[in-house]
Amino acid sequence: MPESVPLDFLGELRRTHTCGQLRASDAGSRVLLMGWVHRRRDLGGVIFIHLRDRDGVTQAVFHAGTESKVHEKAELLRSEYVIAVEGILQKRTPETVNSAIETGEVEVVAEKLWILNESRTPPFPMEETVDVSEDVRLKYRYVDLRRPHMQRNIILRSKIAFAVREALNSMGFLEIETPFMTRSTPEGARDYLVPSRVQRGHFYALPQSPQIFKQLLMVSGFEKYFQIVRCFRDEDLRADRQPEFTQIDLEMSFPQEEQIFEVIEPLVKRVCAVAGYDVQFPLPRLTYREAMRSYGIDKPDLRIPPFHTVEDLFPGASLTTEGLPLVAIRIPKTGALSRKERDELKAFGTERGLRVYDDVKRLERDFPEPMAAVRERTGAAEDDLLLLAGWPGAPKGQRPIDAVFMACGQLRLYAAQKYNDRHGLLDPTNFQFLWVVDFPMFEWNEDEKRWDAAHHPFTSVMDEDIDKLTTDPANCRAKSYDLVLNGVELGSGSIRIHRRDVQSKVFEALGFTDEEARRRFGFLLDALEYGAPPHGGIALGLDRLVMILAGETSIRDVIPFPKTARGTDLMCDAPSPVPEHQLRELGIKVVGGA
Ligand code: ASP
Repeated sequence: MPESVPLDFLGELRRTHTCGQLRASDAGSRVLLMGWVHRRRDLGGVIFIHLRDRDGVTQAVFHAGTESKVHEKAELLRSEYVIAVEGILQKRTPETVNSAIETGEVEVVAEKLWILNESRTPPFPMEETVDVSEDVRLKYRYVDLRRPHMQRNIILRSKIAFAVREALNSMGFLEIETPFMTRSTPEGARDYLVPSRVQRGHFYALPQSPQIFKQLLMVSGFEKYFQIVRCFRDEDLRADRQPEFTQIDLEMSFPQEEQIFEVIEPLVKRVCAVAGYDVQFPLPRLTYREAMRSYGIDKPDLRIPPFHTVEDLFPGASLTTEGLPLVAIRIPKTGALSRKERDELKAFGTERGLRVYDDVKRLERDFPEPMAAVRERTGAAEDDLLLLAGWPGAPKGQRPIDAVFMACGQLRLYAAQKYNDRHGLLDPTNFQFLWVVDFPMFEWNEDEKRWDAAHHPFTSVMDEDIDKLTTDPANCRAKSYDLVLNGVELGSGSIRIHRRDVQSKVFEALGFTDEEARRRFGFLLDALEYGAPPHGGIALGLDRLVMILAGETSIRDVIPFPKTARGTDLMCDAPSPVPEHQLRELGIKVVGGA
């Protein structure tokens, strides 16, 4: 600590205003502000302090030679000291007005100063312009959170959560809590376990989602449930995953898919309005098939145009392969690319098994009419990037057509991202939401040679596909849907199975024995036998939604106390070993170590 300064008590002091409130029209009034010393300028006879609280910054001026000796006391102030200042608000002279801050037309002429607490020199300055390593930011998170953009993000997050509550409340949803200490749920990822002390050898699991409980609440007749809820998934962490994350989780009884959309669309509109953006709904809808065939991905970024299949325009030409698509990818306004740049795109495609035809001039020479038709179909102008891609000699694997589309989807995204500085298509404030619907019911798990639920095992199959559940799982479509924003899956949901017989069939298709199904979800199966209504729901990722609306690129910048990509909390140093006696009490022995 620095040499200590005498500290004052808060006593009966009350603030009259926040540091973001005062304007020229308040000049002449006596004010008392509290906050942190953001910046201090000492000009000898006068000291200027930028006083900061969560609402803004106000300048306080301390003149030497006054009776109150306030200037002498202000000399003790350092960055991030916590103070209270009382004085008369005065208008600044025109040449000293600071248009960078909202209170820039006024300043407090300090008469009294209380030092409520001192501060060590902060590990990094509060100014946004200073680049600070993320590890240092996370270690001193309480300081980092004071920085204006972090304040803005966390405040936006609070406003969004409030808007969600308002919207859902106005639509008749009840906020109901579900347990955090529960048993494993089936979301296809590993659970965090919590050992039971009183029942040694038994473990609770932290929920990966409230899925089963929200379904049970429908069986219990609550009809419309929601929760802004923490979920826990022990997955191998990728750069932008957190082991604990927050979902806007909801479920309703007797819904058509359409009714779920009718809840989410106004909710999204309201939430975007909080961040200052207008979203029009109904949102566009694409089936999973359409998305794959036009974007090569099930979470298309609509800011970039779709691709088109054009093999029909080149009958018999060597660049087409029978039975496989030839795809035309257009990225608007990219301008001419150099040889090297085109080679990079080609190499990217080749690595994914594609053959990329990038020499449009040459194609136009060799195939003038088909290429004119390609331009017409794709709408490609002269300064657009146009690529054709196919897969000559494709291996005869499973669904090679989709593999071509997926590789083209990756190439499309790669090209768009790489040249964004030229066309600016990926403008982060251009919000293109859509629904992707009619997902396949099952996904083939090549490692385990079995079918997995594409969403989760409680998802309903399309009524017309119910008979194919065990005979033709590959062609069963689910009543499931994703909300997608700018290439990011914001949420997914489904209409659930509410009949015991159908649930058994789905378990059978997934290769669960009766016994296993009973062991894992017996209570849900029982509940389905006691008058379960048709029901369905969705969960949206709050962290990602806030991240995008805040214009951030890292999810950690919208979570107050996040973990690193390795799952570590650098501030409180978690996870950590625990004392031996604690383990003994739980009957746990640690074998090996990190
Ligand atoms: N439980 C699902 C999830 O967490 C969402 C849902 O189906 O409502 O992704």
